[in-house]
Amino acid sequence: MIRGGRMSGRWPLHWRILFGLVMGVATGIAANVAAGGTPGLTWAIDHVAEPFGRIFLRLIFMVVLPLVFSALVLGVAGLGDLGRLGRIGAKTFAYTILATGLSVAIGLTLVNVLRPGAGLPEATRAALAASAGRGPAVTPADAPVGLQAVLAIVPENPLRAAVNGDMLAVMFFSLILGIGLALAPRETVAPLIAVLEGLYAVVMQVIDLAMRLAPYGVACLLFTLTARLGAGVLRQLASYVAVVLLGLAIHQFGTYALIVRVLGGMSPRLFFQRIRTVMITAFSTSSSNATLPLALTVTERNLGVPREIANFVLTLGSTANQNGTALFEGVTVLFLAQFYGVELSLSSQLVVVLMSILAGVGTAGVPGGSLPLIVPVLATVGVPPEGIGIIFGVDRLLDMCRTVLNVSGDITAAVVVARSEDALAVPLIVPDVE
Ligand code: ASP
Repeated sequence: MIRGGRMSGRWPLHWRILFGLVMGVATGIAANVAAGGTPGLTWAIDHVAEPFGRIFLRLIFMVVLPLVFSALVLGVAGLGDLGRLGRIGAKTFAYTILATGLSVAIGLTLVNVLRPGAGLPEATRAALAASAGRGPAVTPADAPVGLQAVLAIVPENPLRAAVNGDMLAVMFFSLILGIGLALAPRETVAPLIAVLEGLYAVVMQVIDLAMRLAPYGVACLLFTLTARLGAGVLRQLASYVAVVLLGLAIHQFGTYALIVRVLGGMSPRLFFQRIRTVMITAFSTSSSNATLPLALTVTERNLGVPREIANFVLTLGSTANQNGTALFEGVTVLFLAQFYGVELSLSSQLVVVLMSILAGVGTAGVPGGSLPLIVPVLATVGVPPEGIGIIFGVDRLLDMCRTVLNVSGDITAAVVVARSEDALAVPLIVPDVE
C-alpha cells in the first residue's frame, strides 16, 4: 500500500517525487540550452527519457481497469442499503454538476477580462503549431446529446467497453454489478466479494511497487518536456498559462476552501495539509486514475471518510468530477477564439460552458485525457480546431495543475457527502493551527 506517501528509504515519497521533478526540469532546461535540437539530445529524449517516463505511467495504467472495477463494485456493494446508495449517488451527481459549472464560470470570467489570447507573437504561434505534430492524435468525436448521451454510457458488452477504454461504460457496469451484489443474499455472494477484495489488494500492491519508480519516472517526464521545448516556450505562453493557473487557484483555494469549511465542517488549512501528498502525486503524474489509490487511502485515514463512501465518490469522481479539466477546456476554447480573432457571442459561450462540463464528466483521468475533447468544442463554436496544436507545448504543465484540482475536488466531494450522511469518523472541526 502507499502509506500516506511514506515509502522505504530516508525521504518520504512526496519529497523524492518533488526532487525528481526539480531535477527533471533543471537538467531539461540545461540540456535544451546546451544542445537543444541536436541529433544527440533528440535521440536521448526519444529513446531514453520519454520511453522511461511512459513506462512508469503505463505500470500504473495497466492496473487502472481492475482498480476501477473492483473499487466501484465493492464501494457500491459496501454501501449496503440502496436507499443510501441512491442518496449518495444523487448528492455526488449534484455536487459534480454545480462545482464543475462554477469552475468553468470562473475560467470564462477570467479569460474574458484578461484576454490572454490577444497579442501572441507570430513566431511563437508558428513554433508551437509545428510542435503539434508530436502531440497525441486528435479525432473529433460525435458528441451524443440527450438520451443518446445516456445510452452511450450503458454498455451492451462490458468487455468491449473495457477494451475500448470506455471508462464511463465500465463504471456504469460496475455500478450495476455492485447494486446486484448489494441485493443478492450475503452468504451466496460472499466468495465473490472476497475475490474482489483480493483483486483490489493486489492492484494496490502493484501500484505501490510502481510508485517506487515515481521519482525517476517524473524526472524523465519533466526532462522530456523542458529539453524538447526549452524554458522560453513556457514563457511565450505565460499569459494563457497564468489565466488557467489563476482560475485553478481561485477554485482550489477559494471555492473548495469555502465548501470544505461550510459543507464539510472542516478547517480548510487542515484539509489541504492532510491531502498534500495526494496533491503532489496528482501534480507529478497528471493522472486522476494514477492518484486514485493514494487518494482513497488518504481520504479514509487522514480525513475520516468511511471507506465505502470514499470508494464510491472518489472512484466515480476520478473520471466524472473533473473541475480542473472543465475550467481548462473553457479557458482554452476562449483563448484560441481570441487568438484567431473569433468573437464568441453569449450563446456560444454558454455552449462552451455546457460542453466543458460534459468534457469534465467524460474525460478519462489520464495525462492529456481532455485534449481530444477540446476539438469538438472548438469546431462547434467556429474556432479552427487545429488551434489545439498551439497549446500542446504547455499542456503538460497545465495538465499537472488541473489534475491537482480534479483530485482535490473529488476528495472535497467525499468529505461533503460523508458529512451530510453524518459519517465522518473523527471530529475534524479543529482550529487553524499546526
Ligand atoms: N490529466 C487529467 C486527469 O487525470 C485529465 C485531463 O484534464 O487531461 O485528471
